[in-house]
Amino acid sequence: MFYQKFTEALPADKNEKNTPRQVTDAAYSYVSPQKFENASLIHVNHTLLNELKLNDIEKDELALIFTGQKTLNNQKPYAMCYAGHQFGNWAGQLGDGRAINIAELDMNKHPIVLQLKGAGKTPYSRSADGLAVLRSSIREFLMSEAMFSLGIPTTRALSIALSGDQVLRDILYNGNPAHEKGAIVCRTAPSFIRFGNFENFAARGNKVLLKKLTDYTIQTFYSHLGAPSKSTYLVFFKEVAMKSLEMVMDWQRVGFVHGVMNTDNMSILGLTIDYGPFGWLENYDPAWTPNTTDAQFKRYRYGNQPHIVLWNLTQLANALYPLIEEAAPLEHILEEYQETFQKRYLQMMLQKLGIDNQQPDDDNFINLLTDLLRISQMDMTLFFRKLSKFDPITLKEHLPIIEEDSYLNQSQFNPHIYKWENWLQQYAARLLSCKESKSNRQIRMNRVNPKYVLRNYMAHLAIQDAEKGDYKLFLELYNLLKKPYDEQPENEKWFRKRPDWAINKVGSSMLSCSS
Ligand code: AMP
Ligand code: MG
Repeated sequence: MFYQKFTEALPADKNEKNTPRQVTDAAYSYVSPQKFENASLIHVNHTLLNELKLNDIEKDELALIFTGQKTLNNQKPYAMCYAGHQFGNWAGQLGDGRAINIAELDMNKHPIVLQLKGAGKTPYSRSADGLAVLRSSIREFLMSEAMFSLGIPTTRALSIALSGDQVLRDILYNGNPAHEKGAIVCRTAPSFIRFGNFENFAARGNKVLLKKLTDYTIQTFYSHLGAPSKSTYLVFFKEVAMKSLEMVMDWQRVGFVHGVMNTDNMSILGLTIDYGPFGWLENYDPAWTPNTTDAQFKRYRYGNQPHIVLWNLTQLANALYPLIEEAAPLEHILEEYQETFQKRYLQMMLQKLGIDNQQPDDDNFINLLTDLLRISQMDMTLFFRKLSKFDPITLKEHLPIIEEDSYLNQSQFNPHIYKWENWLQQYAARLLSCKESKSNRQIRMNRVNPKYVLRNYMAHLAIQDAEKGDYKLFLELYNLLKKPYDEQPENEKWFRKRPDWAINKVGSSMLSCSS
């Protein structure tokens, strides 16, 4: 039932003092979570709890375990050491500054790690407090579970609790700190290893531990690739590249913007990880990022995410190089990423449009659409979802629907009408060339175009209530997002454009890294 695979395979920090420091020659440090006398559970994800076979544990005991007050099966909690590139610059050692792994479960020979976020300081906390606020914890809980239900690879959320303490945060970084409720999320994943764990050993010139970490990762999560060797390291890198590509392709499909794609936030398993100032595209704008910290250069904007994955993979390639000692095959994999991305992007967009055959001018056809979506400020989710109702025979009847889902007013929209007519005509012709029936097409389109997503203002509303101790909306959204592709007639109110009040509101369209 329990494992200690990671801690058995890799060396621990010999120093067990919980003080901020550089940790060399170790992959992690043992650390005890902070004491929170007044911690209390807000919600437990019972479906996941059952899957993990932890449902026999009493509620009171769960509350203690999920807030770090009690160990699970006497497992020894630890924080992982990693480094990373942040916003394009080498940042040196980072590590789990506010994450503590509390247990590793054996799920039919596959590990699942339980990790607390916000349970206090670790040797990697640098000058920060190791804590998390309710606001960011609600966002992580809702979003990671919504991503799971969207079928997008992600870490999961098992519980959310109040720490019972207040946490000081300067949300706008403008010298106005205020107290907020502290919270702890227990999240799970087969592993929380990041690109940055490999970069850490490579940067320190520690080839022995770099090899140990890579071998452990391959043997535990990529064992189908065979025993570790030079050629296995290469196929391992290729698999990580392709998994990361599929992850970002899913993000592009649904309009998710991660916000902080630093290499320490890139999972070696291709999971979406570390939900911070993420957001959803509402008006389709490839240049949009929700993260105010990135407002100047918009490095992590929606349209740049696939390219950033490639940039991050290049850093991983550099980190793995000492084990391979040949640049050309690594470069070749990076080139393959680009080629595969172009192909997969086209396929994904055609799927969103319900087109079941490819034609030579598909690139132009798709570019025409994305330009139109951008200039007419279309709501991405509403546009694609409603497109499944488009009828190629009565094509003009769809125009008012398009106009309604634009964030432009009528006079701003008018100049774009003829371009939309033109595109709809091309689209109608494409659909008429498809073999599939309309009803089949609709079913297929609705499987890739979600009806319900966690718009930023929705999370904001749930947070406002939760801060007052009212979790009804939080639970309503949690349940809504369990079936994002289904019609839910009782929840039609969430299938609407962003309300005007939310346009420039902090927490509802723009977010800082403060969490
Ligand atoms: P992030 O960009 O949120 O993934 O965090 C980057 C780094 O800062 C990681 O090493 C985190 O562990 C650390 N960090 C972020 N917030 C805190 C905090 N409140 N206390 C300690 N470390 C933190
Ligand atoms: Mg992080």
